[in-house]
Amino acid sequence: MKQNSLTPEALIITKHQEALHKGFRTWPNLAFDRPPAMGDARWTDDLILATWTQAETGRPPENGLEFRVGRSGGGFDVLTFKFLPRELWVPEQETIDTSISLNRRPYDQEIEIPVPWYGAGMSYGSISEQIMLARAKVARQWSTFTCTGEGGYPESLVPYRDHVITQVATGMFGVREETIMWAPIIEFKYAQGAKPGLGGHLLGDKATASVAKMRESVPWISLFSPFPFHSVYSVEDHKKHIDWVKTINPGALISVKVSTPADVDMVAVGSYYAGAHIIQIDGGYGGTGAAPEIAKKNIAMPIELAIPKVHRFLIQEGIRDEVVLMASGGIRTADDIAKIIALGADGCILGTSELVALGCTRCSNCERGRGCPFGLTTTDPQLSQLVDPDWGAERIDRLYASYQMQLRDIVRRLGLRNVRELRGCMDLLIYRGQANRKEKEGHYGARSNH
Ligand code: SF4
Repeated sequence: MKQNSLTPEALIITKHQEALHKGFRTWPNLAFDRPPAMGDARWTDDLILATWTQAETGRPPENGLEFRVGRSGGGFDVLTFKFLPRELWVPEQETIDTSISLNRRPYDQEIEIPVPWYGAGMSYGSISEQIMLARAKVARQWSTFTCTGEGGYPESLVPYRDHVITQVATGMFGVREETIMWAPIIEFKYAQGAKPGLGGHLLGDKATASVAKMRESVPWISLFSPFPFHSVYSVEDHKKHIDWVKTINPGALISVKVSTPADVDMVAVGSYYAGAHIIQIDGGYGGTGAAPEIAKKNIAMPIELAIPKVHRFLIQEGIRDEVVLMASGGIRTADDIAKIIALGADGCILGTSELVALGCTRCSNCERGRGCPFGLTTTDPQLSQLVDPDWGAERIDRLYASYQMQLRDIVRRLGLRNVRELRGCMDLLIYRGQANRKEKEGHYGARSNH
């Protein structure tokens, strides 16, 4: 279409899109050094720019940007791998298998995904329909999944329904019989690591007419999902919930999303006995900028502590190989994916890294209706047009390709032939906290030694 045939609104959107896309290409080149005030200690400026590079090229950067660890001084950032000497690496001509199964029980449908991750629940309202669509497109392309979050199921997602998980959370916003029937996997969200014990809260600013309609509410009113499910106070109650959705969709696999309280291991075992196929442990570093910092930093246990705790307890109980353990909330890089698997998870669930691939700078303005400068966490009709779903899907696709390539490299250098062999191999990790503290005195902090 010729530019002069566009409406003024379309012209403005095109101009902003072009400027943003140019920025995503230019900043990671470091021609102007790193942009000021970008990111934080976990999602550093380097990690954000490196994610943009991967979303552009499908490969990690080669210009010195740190793409493996952040500068938090803890957790993933002080762990590295115990790689074997080069002569013991699995030869390059052998393909490393990165697939995992999402059902380890001897009944119900078999679902295998070719990479050990899928997309996290982010609701319509917290993000735009364009972003949901971009994520669904890439989920189909990679034969993995994305998740609706709690906010309804936009019509545009229906063609991708074999790759869309329906989330059922306490507010039941947008949950309908057909959205349960469509889903190969139903996710019960009992809690969220970024704000455990607080439920969900969509500020009135973001409850536009279309969001309100999808949630069967009225516009511009704050919408709360209470904590907890007031119908669930025991494993038996939990099982009744699962029986309820299985009555509607007998073939669905059941995932249970919980946060990381001190007794998270007991919660996981209870979920298994209630009938869950997948237990999602959501650590405290996830969530968009709409989650309060005080909750993120002070309530839940980091995922790096919760996963080994749950993994060990499931082994003690003799049920580890009958349930799939997925980690979420703070997985930023391919190295993080490999580390959380070595700590005991089967795989992980990605949310923020996909938003970063689409331009997020971690500015924490997500809760405001017109706050997101990149049109990601908004449902404003104009702002959300800054992201074209096809453009978004291509960027996430290239990020996935880069992650898979790096993951294969890590597994190969550990002398393993598939990612499933890495699960729970904590002895393949090294704690380098002391070295990290010394490195932090330098300008860019801890760097991986591989
Ligand atoms: S407002 Fe947008 S850019 Fe800022 S943290 Fe939220 S998603 Fe990222």
